[in-house]
Amino acid sequence: MSDNSFNPFKMAQSQFDKAADLLQLDQATKDLLRNPLREFHFSIPIRMDDGSHKVFQGFRVQHNDARGPAKGGIRFHPQETIDTVRALSMWMTWKTAVADIPLGGAKGGVICDPHNLSSPEQERICRGWVRQIVKNVGPNSDIPAPDVMTNPQHMLWMLDEFEMITGQKMPGFITGKPVGMGGSLGRTEATGYGVMITVREALKEMNINPENTTASFQGFGNVAQYAIELYQQMGGKVICVSSWGQKDQKSYSFRRKEGVDLKELQSVTDSFGGINKWKAQEFGYEMLPGEAWLEQEVDILVPAALENQITGENAGKINKQVKIIAEGANGPTTPDADIIIKEKNIYNIPDFLANAGGVTCSYFEQVQSNMNYFWTKDEVLGKLDQKMTTAYISVSDFARKNKLYMRDATYVISVDKVAQACHDRGWV
Ligand code: NAD
Repeated sequence: MSDNSFNPFKMAQSQFDKAADLLQLDQATKDLLRNPLREFHFSIPIRMDDGSHKVFQGFRVQHNDARGPAKGGIRFHPQETIDTVRALSMWMTWKTAVADIPLGGAKGGVICDPHNLSSPEQERICRGWVRQIVKNVGPNSDIPAPDVMTNPQHMLWMLDEFEMITGQKMPGFITGKPVGMGGSLGRTEATGYGVMITVREALKEMNINPENTTASFQGFGNVAQYAIELYQQMGGKVICVSSWGQKDQKSYSFRRKEGVDLKELQSVTDSFGGINKWKAQEFGYEMLPGEAWLEQEVDILVPAALENQITGENAGKINKQVKIIAEGANGPTTPDADIIIKEKNIYNIPDFLANAGGVTCSYFEQVQSNMNYFWTKDEVLGKLDQKMTTAYISVSDFARKNKLYMRDATYVISVDKVAQACHDRGWV
């Protein structure tokens, strides 16, 4: 396997290089787009509950803002690296472009494990993160949002710190806020629902009724749970989900061939999306190794956990019945795995198209926050469906016409839009 598989940024760059070649971009545009415009590394000193002090490492990377203010989540993760944040910021640029939202791409993170931090300690990290970056973010420059292991409460603490420092109310500074405190209805559902809207459209093109399909998921967090909700409403049957076992520090898959019961599994899942293995077994789920979700005899696979999960080593184990891989997570498939997926003739709905529902709804939240006028949930979800369907169809038409793999088509469309914006501004 190539080194690219293990470094998300190298992987993002190699995906970009391919699109740049297809588009025959000039050298200056390539140099500009294959690296972030700006990145910030900072220390966040925190007083812990026991009176001791600890310093956490924080990041914010603004990959590109030619099409509008940079936008992207903040992750709290013990294994966070600057290269992960760089890759994710680049993917945000392509994602906002393909979803046709007037925003750029950014990402942030803190190396920490919220499992081992009290709520007041997490609040201090949130406030500390804002204090370190306040001059370089804002509603007109860079708008953060939640991501892995961050939630609406974290966003509200960050907003509060930002407003305290700037002395103004600016709810458009950050998205993913609690509903009633500047948050948008529908935001919680948006990413997962968006994934399934793209699957619904893909199945339509394949002339397959969702009611005759089955699916297996990696992850049981925000994205997976809502994707499962909409998929089940469409009539689909989920037979396997996997999640990370915090206590054992390993992942498990939980299978029930007659279909998982979403509410039942949610009742034994912690706030980080970890399924309690004992209780799940009591409910009659078979407990299998972590990677088993990938090997199931299903029509649809939805990786919705982390990056680098479908690799050159395990892609061969994907069952021959699988027709669609819808990437809920960011960067779940390595370039080596893509080769195998193409050979197996599996239809791939790439991450920054499939999971663009989150940023689309974040954009709706920002618009509502700036107007201080909030839409109903039906209005939000209706607009989400429209945006996701349009984005999906434009990519799938382009891929068909140009005989391109979906990932390549998505890249070509989005890189072209961003390159054009950079040219129009006279940057390159
Ligand atoms: P989350 O923290 O709510 O859930 C993550 C889930 O993955 C949990 O169930 C966890 O147990 C599971 N997990 C972690 N490591 C695992 C492993 N090795 N094997 C199996 N399961 C594992 O996160 P989320 O918000 O659902 O995000 C999931 C992915 O989707 C991430 O890649 C994130 O960047 C991406 N994403 C999220 C959003 C959003 O709006 N939440 C938007 C776009 C993309």
